[in-house]
Amino acid sequence: MKQSMTLIPTLREVPADAEIRSHQLLLKAGFIRQNASGVYSFLPLGKKVLQKVEQIVREEMDRAGGVELLMPALQQAELWQESGRWYSYGPELIRLKDRHGREFSLGPTHEEVITSIVRDEVKSYKRLPLTLYQIQTKFRDEKRPRFGLLRGREFVMKDAYSFHANTESLDEVYKKIFQAYANIFTRCQLNFRAVIADSGAMGGKDTHEFMVLSEVGEDTIAYSDSSDYAANIEMAPVITKYDKSNETIKELQKVETKQQKTIADISSFLNTPKEKCIKTLLFKVDDKYVLVLVRGDHEVNDIKLKNLFEAQIVELAEADETKEVLGCSVGSLGPVHVSDLEIVADHAVEAIVNGVCGANEEDYHFVNVNVGRDFNVSKFVDLRFIQEGDPSPDGQGTIKFAKGIEVGHVFKLGTRYSEAMNATFLDENGKSKPMIMGCYGIGVSRIVAAIAEQFNDENGLIWPVDIAPYDVHLIPINMKDDTQRQLSEELYNLLGENRYDVLFDDRKERPGVKFADSDLIGLPVRMTIGKKAAEGMVELKIRKSGEMIEIHKDELLSTLAELFKNK
Ligand code: ATP
Ligand code: MG
Repeated sequence: MKQSMTLIPTLREVPADAEIRSHQLLLKAGFIRQNASGVYSFLPLGKKVLQKVEQIVREEMDRAGGVELLMPALQQAELWQESGRWYSYGPELIRLKDRHGREFSLGPTHEEVITSIVRDEVKSYKRLPLTLYQIQTKFRDEKRPRFGLLRGREFVMKDAYSFHANTESLDEVYKKIFQAYANIFTRCQLNFRAVIADSGAMGGKDTHEFMVLSEVGEDTIAYSDSSDYAANIEMAPVITKYDKSNETIKELQKVETKQQKTIADISSFLNTPKEKCIKTLLFKVDDKYVLVLVRGDHEVNDIKLKNLFEAQIVELAEADETKEVLGCSVGSLGPVHVSDLEIVADHAVEAIVNGVCGANEEDYHFVNVNVGRDFNVSKFVDLRFIQEGDPSPDGQGTIKFAKGIEVGHVFKLGTRYSEAMNATFLDENGKSKPMIMGCYGIGVSRIVAAIAEQFNDENGLIWPVDIAPYDVHLIPINMKDDTQRQLSEELYNLLGENRYDVLFDDRKERPGVKFADSDLIGLPVRMTIGKKAAEGMVELKIRKSGEMIEIHKDELLSTLAELFKNK
């Protein structure tokens, strides 16, 4: 491709609104442009990279037995009403009406559509298992679209769905796709890890996320320092055992705690360790309020709370709701004398003796609070986030944290959708049964950003060979020099004939500009044709290592064959 014939609008300055390296560089090197918040165009270079990633995904999905199809982004509301998600999905679902007033959504995912197709077309166990996938644009009205392609409102996903007559078959396909995902991320050269995850709004059981380890990741991975245990912290169970101290139980007392709101404030004001404070929070769990207690140095894990109540929506009550229900503000809450609310507590709270909590009265706290005597709890369960230093849930070693970008997710859905939408089949005995399902997503456009985030230096992007938009960046130093131009054309054609994809910088720019752009764009090999063109000499620069090699044009193909040997 001649550079003068394509569109690669590189920028000199880092765009001000881009916070992380990958976002800055993809904009600066002219791969993408933002059209609206969380909505991007892939310019020619970006599109090529996206296609490379798509191709890897396609090959590995096909190898795992998947079959590609394409479903619509525009989905009728009726399907979502059948599954129930029309009502539970929340504001991320983009809803719209057609000219007849019929309701639609722009698909954030395709369980409903695929289930309706398979329900209509597959009736017998003889047609199962079946794994279908697509690579398609998804829409999610994210609360906080950010970091460029990492969290968009319109993005490219590979989503796959498998249908089975029994759980053994689901287990088998789940394993195959798990392996396909590992192959995909390995081929993309990503530093990743598979972790145990929560099934979220999808409603399933066995599930893993594939995380790219990165400082800019929004997820936290809890992993063991001495085994291969790794989980999203949302999911990691806490197995710590707490010993109740044998200090004498003292009399409950109400004390004034003017202006002291946070656990840290109270702990230092009353000279009590945080471990003796009872952190009390009012949550709205679907339609009812629940009082949740954890130890002062712990944090409530709302996913665990959600799973405990099998709820659709769990959120912290707003300040005005808290005032209305308990008569005070958030910093003064406590469980003492609360009789008309369900109270649940983390195991650690059970071990607190002579503790401290809010008195449900502005500026007052109770001290010497004891469970059983001063308040009752309906359930003691694991409700807190795991912390660094906690024992690993598999019993081996202690927990450490790392940040991760979720690039893929595999779920065993079971019959969540087939039952709701009546997708049944006839088994060997002619008995009608709901199909058992799995679903498997990959953030294809997110992978592009994750690769850019992992592979760059101060001068720009450094694409892995299999992902790079072109293989070689061909740069004549002086386009006005006939010898240089002729040799450039000759080698451009030669490489093309030998199936190298070459970007030929035929612009009449200064060499400095061309080199800076070349480093920014980050193709694996730069080939410079300068003064020694007359002798047939060219210079290769390896983008990744910075290594320079001067060779004769006759050695070009063999040298490149060596450099691209895994291609
Ligand atoms: P997240 O927790 O990051 O919001 P999710 O759990 O909502 O992800 P899934 O519903 O499992 O994501 O979607 C499958 C894959 O699609 C994810 O693993 C991720 O790689 C990608 N993905 C999800 N949301 C976005 C987004 N807003 N922008 C880009 N990619 C996304
Ligand atoms: Mg999400």
